[in-house]
Amino acid sequence: MDTDVLVVGAGPTGLMLANQLARRGVRVRIIDRHAGPARESRALGVQARTLEIYSHLGIADQAVALGKKADGAVLWAEGRRAARVPLGDIGRDVSPYPYLLVLGQDDNERLLGDALRARGLAVQWNTELVGLAQDTDHVTATLKNSDATTSEVRVPWLAGCDGARSTVRELNGIAFEGAPYQHVFFVADLQMTGSMAPEVLNVYLWRTGFHLLFPMRGTDHWRIVGILPPHLRGRDDLTFEETIPTLRHEVGNELSFQACNWFSTYRIHHRRAARFHDRRCFLLGDAAHVHSPVGGQGMNTGLQDAYNLAWKLALVVSGRAGAALVHSYEDERLPVANHLLKRTDRLFSIVVSDSWLVGLCRTRVMPKIMALALRTAAVQRIAFRTISQTGIRYRRSPLSQELADLPEDGPHAGDRFPWLRLKFQANGPVEDLYGKLDDTRFTLLVFGQAAPRGGIPELGDQGRVHEVPIDPTNDRELARVRIPRPSFFLLRPDGHVGLAGAALDAAAVSRYISERLRFG
Ligand SMILES: Cc1cc2nc3c(=O)[nH]c(=O)nc-3n(C[C@H](O)[C@H](O)[C@H](O)COP(=O)(O)OP(=O)(O)OC[C@H]3O[C@@H](n4cnc5c(N)ncnc54)[C@H](O)[C@@H]3O)c2cc1C
Repeated sequence: MDTDVLVVGAGPTGLMLANQLARRGVRVRIIDRHAGPARESRALGVQARTLEIYSHLGIADQAVALGKKADGAVLWAEGRRAARVPLGDIGRDVSPYPYLLVLGQDDNERLLGDALRARGLAVQWNTELVGLAQDTDHVTATLKNSDATTSEVRVPWLAGCDGARSTVRELNGIAFEGAPYQHVFFVADLQMTGSMAPEVLNVYLWRTGFHLLFPMRGTDHWRIVGILPPHLRGRDDLTFEETIPTLRHEVGNELSFQACNWFSTYRIHHRRAARFHDRRCFLLGDAAHVHSPVGGQGMNTGLQDAYNLAWKLALVVSGRAGAALVHSYEDERLPVANHLLKRTDRLFSIVVSDSWLVGLCRTRVMPKIMALALRTAAVQRIAFRTISQTGIRYRRSPLSQELADLPEDGPHAGDRFPWLRLKFQANGPVEDLYGKLDDTRFTLLVFGQAAPRGGIPELGDQGRVHEVPIDPTNDRELARVRIPRPSFFLLRPDGHVGLAGAALDAAAVSRYISERLRFG
């Protein structure tokens, strides 16, 4: 077998997985049934956690340069400007990327595709997975090739990143539980002018629904997402022009359209696969979960699925960890999807409810409460952590262990370790911790005590140790995020805390590695 992992699907999830596996030395093959990358932009919001992951891939600066930072949102209620919600840098001190970046899915896929090519790996387009059989030590995949012939390949692992209609999910007989929403969305990519506030997200709330206008890169370039009025639903031949009367009524008569680059309608489902892992196959991204686009989480969640699985699968493929390690992918990511589905469903129900009372609340009460609440630092912090996906944690994971009582509001096992600026040498410069983390290895961070002299032998070349000296700058930074002294944190390659404790016990760290990760 000359391939370790067959990645099915070259959307954002598959491209991220292929990149992460390839940079960890895994032999990857990535296929897609389409002839080339999708040209429609679909998802628009790139969250801070995604940009943190992009920075390890070396594409964060390009993404930021290509996109537009969402500085704020203006809420319009029944045609009247109701409130301005400042977004700006609401995540300062939480992430080096403290904002929401507006950057289309097509641009994200292009950056990820370029990064893959730079590693000497290309997507095999026009190649469709049509059959699959699992064995104890391999999967046999039947592929339909570009010349319409079929061939069989044997691979140890197969990752289904093949979208909402996943063939991998269906061929494994995994249920996709949930239902469609009754509403039909439309999305249009436009060159237009009007009375909307420039450079910010414009949210138009009506008793009967909503329109979102995203500022895009380029002059007068906007993306509109909205709900199709009932009289336009159920039509395959619908054109953008037919939505203009409703748009003018809800967004303003001054709207003038110079060009429509893309128009599409789509029905949304909220569904989750019953399992994310079946023997030698995995489901990631839309193949595992779909939900309403409210909150801009879909694409970002798929990217994080891939980031979570990649380091585990790479360790297993290289023989450094036991196969059981990959079970934690489902243990960790399925609850994240559950939570996301519940949250987006609740929010979506408020945004689209036909009830008179909810409509009144949406147009009269909600804009004012949101604008007021988001001016307070505590609400900003909670909102940012939730939407930016920096607050995702795996506290109940079998990989999360704590050896001491740590402060309630500080980092715990399973959490993404906070972003800090620290002195790593007594008289050295203040450095960005994230810039020092190598996401292909484990990192042992030791605060206020000596690191073990010989490192942690069980980690071998898979680990780095940083002893953070006692220093007033460091003390202030640690106090800010409630990290006590002495303490230590063993970070997994994906930046989440695996093991945490107070006084460093090297034997306990070794035990954690051999028992939880089954290194050897
Ligand atoms: C119109 C529209 C607007 C959207 N807007 C937003 C938004 O604003 N915000 C947001 O977060 N999300 C949005 N989404 C959702 C977002 O696009 C998805 O969450 C995201 O594309 C998921 O990425 P993925 O890689 O998991 O799956 P996909 O992007 O669906 O990629 C799956 C890939 O697998 C390939 N494939 C499928 N079956 C096979 C097979 N058998 N063999 C080989 N290849 C196969 C497909 O060709 C495809 O390239 C939108 C979706 C749509 C359709």
